[in-house]
Amino acid sequence: MKAEIIAVGTELLLGQIANTNAQFLSQKLAEIGVGVYFHTVVGDNTERLMQVIKQASVRSDLIIFTGGLGPTQDDLTKETVAAHIDAGLVTDPVAMERIESFFHQRGIVMTENNRKQALVFDRGQVFPNDTGMAPGMAAEHNGRTFVLLPGPPSELYPMADRYVMPYLIGLLPEQQVFHSHVLRFYGIGESALEEQLLDLIESQENPTIAPYAKEFEVTLRITARAKTVAEAEKLIEPVEREIYRRLGEFIYAKGETSLHEVLVEELKQNGKTIACAESCTGGKVASLVTSVPGSSTVMRGGIVCYTNDAKRELVDVPQAVLDTDGAVSEQTARLLAENVRQKLRATCGISVTGVAGPDPSEGKPVGLVYIGVAIDGLPTVVKELRLAGRRHAIVGRAAKFALFYALQ
Ligand code: ATP
Ligand code: MG
Repeated sequence: MKAEIIAVGTELLLGQIANTNAQFLSQKLAEIGVGVYFHTVVGDNTERLMQVIKQASVRSDLIIFTGGLGPTQDDLTKETVAAHIDAGLVTDPVAMERIESFFHQRGIVMTENNRKQALVFDRGQVFPNDTGMAPGMAAEHNGRTFVLLPGPPSELYPMADRYVMPYLIGLLPEQQVFHSHVLRFYGIGESALEEQLLDLIESQENPTIAPYAKEFEVTLRITARAKTVAEAEKLIEPVEREIYRRLGEFIYAKGETSLHEVLVEELKQNGKTIACAESCTGGKVASLVTSVPGSSTVMRGGIVCYTNDAKRELVDVPQAVLDTDGAVSEQTARLLAENVRQKLRATCGISVTGVAGPDPSEGKPVGLVYIGVAIDGLPTVVKELRLAGRRHAIVGRAAKFALFYALQ
């Protein structure tokens, strides 16, 4: 099956937003083995949208649209596709009720154009919108499948996961399941990881192995295609075992999670608490930890000690250490971690001090970062890192490394 994704919206063409919906949908389709051959972006214009629809109809079996299902004048995807596939538009009672109750609950008068959002094709499939108003829909025409989805990612993602993907799997010639395991890595870059697994990545067809980097972490998805989940598990198992054998030391978790979630969970399980003193990361470590719901039971607090004065006054790093070793040094990282731990009465203190750039500092190069981890009853560990990239990346990676070492 050949698929194509058409994103509708002038704001995409103007560069005001990025076409992340197409990226998301492509990944989802890849997971079920459907090849995406084109991404098209077209503005909110009936004529040009029609041109794009006609072009897609001759080259793709599955055509997925995002955007333009809303209530306003410029939302015209439904009307235009309906005209092309010869479908009528009728009111979906479930969607209509949802829209009416939305306005009723908020005590706002509903404008007439909102009714438009409840219109769906008079044949095919309707996908409920659990997080918004306009439902999605699908219909066939001349052997092609047309799927229409809302633009806002907060509506599109849950709709795709809950309703659209199961529907698409049902369209596949042979009923099969796609089952994935996700392995989460830290302390190894995407290219190094790929190099270590290149033979596996290149030779495997089922399961497929796909690494990708996101938010300064590397993730590997192993996806198998089979008749049942149990059969897929059997295909994944030996491949996963081999990956663990080669790179197990870098795998910090399996599944949909993140370093900060894993860290909070582990601290919780062990009845431990954490505190951090951050210089170059400016509070990013604390921000990541506190982004996890329920982190208040493990997070004692954080100090952003950006200047030497702050390191001395707030975290008791002696002036002599700052003068001789410098703010970016093993000794300062050690004292920051130990002192913040004591001050905030945590079982684990973490510190980050480094040169984020763009200019060197204290004669030390951009990317030099020290991370201190002081754990109750254990000798303090300080790691020295030489991080690559620009300021934003150095800060992002340093924060993630701090979480990673806190996990060790
Ligand atoms: P609404 O009911 O909000 O009008 P809609 O289905 O009509 O939804 P659009 O009006 O096209 O969708 O887009 C609404 C918003 O959704 C955009 O302003 C943008 O923030 C987001 N959006 C739309 N298309 C995309 C896309 N391809 N990728 C990422 N975000 C998108
Ligand atoms: Mg809209």
